[in-house]
Amino acid sequence: MLLSQEYVARMAENVARIREEINQAAREAGRYPDDILLCAACKTRTVEEVRASADLPIDVFGENHVQELVEKYDAGAYGDKLAHFIGHLQTNKVNKVVGRAALIQSVDSVRLLDKIDHAAQAAGVKQQILVEVNIGGEASKSGVVGEKELWDLLDQATARDHVELRGLMAIPPADATESQTRAFFSDMRELLNHAREQYGVGLTILSMGMSGDFIAAIKEGATIVRIGTAIYGARDYSK
Ligand SMILES: *Cc1c(COP(=O)(O)O)cnc(C)c1O
Repeated sequence: MLLSQEYVARMAENVARIREEINQAAREAGRYPDDILLCAACKTRTVEEVRASADLPIDVFGENHVQELVEKYDAGAYGDKLAHFIGHLQTNKVNKVVGRAALIQSVDSVRLLDKIDHAAQAAGVKQQILVEVNIGGEASKSGVVGEKELWDLLDQATARDHVELRGLMAIPPADATESQTRAFFSDMRELLNHAREQYGVGLTILSMGMSGDFIAAIKEGATIVRIGTAIYGARDYSK
């Protein structure tokens, strides 16, 4: 399917505007804009759409579904950019993700961690990961719940030979108010700070903030923002 010129132009405008908003939020927070990666959350977008967006000043692609990652990676849709895995990962699909995703952002169980460690060993790579925190404690969401589960998983993650723990990721509840969301982001920064004290300076990544709340996330210390709708437009799940 051929992309319309209008669509490509709109995407370019969107990314330029988001970049400016990232820069401004960083400046206001006394941070360097270059310390914040723009991750294009491209679930449901076609190979052609992703390939066109790869020419824009985004830093990395984020995929939620293994099948989409495999299809777009193998088609070269990401151009010279890397892909991250940001969705719920089933243990039986880990082999397809290790080797394709530079960072798996959504590790939330020891069982998944073990699978990743084994797959990375078999592939001869060290897989970079984040631990996903269910910061709002929602029953319907992935991510570790509560401090005990978090520190247990971080202990395990830092003890694996073929996995490198780089930080934390979170998605606050969709129905939270602006100030509640900001408080969740702030809690995440504190958790990362504690984790860094405990496990060392390599834990530098805090992935949080989406189309509706990335400015608040940057003000609270996000180093990766994951943005979909604001780049590509509303998602169409009917296809
Ligand atoms: C879809 C998705 C996003 C992007 O959401 P938008 O609201 O479209 O920006 C970010 N992170 C994750 C984990 C997602 O699944």
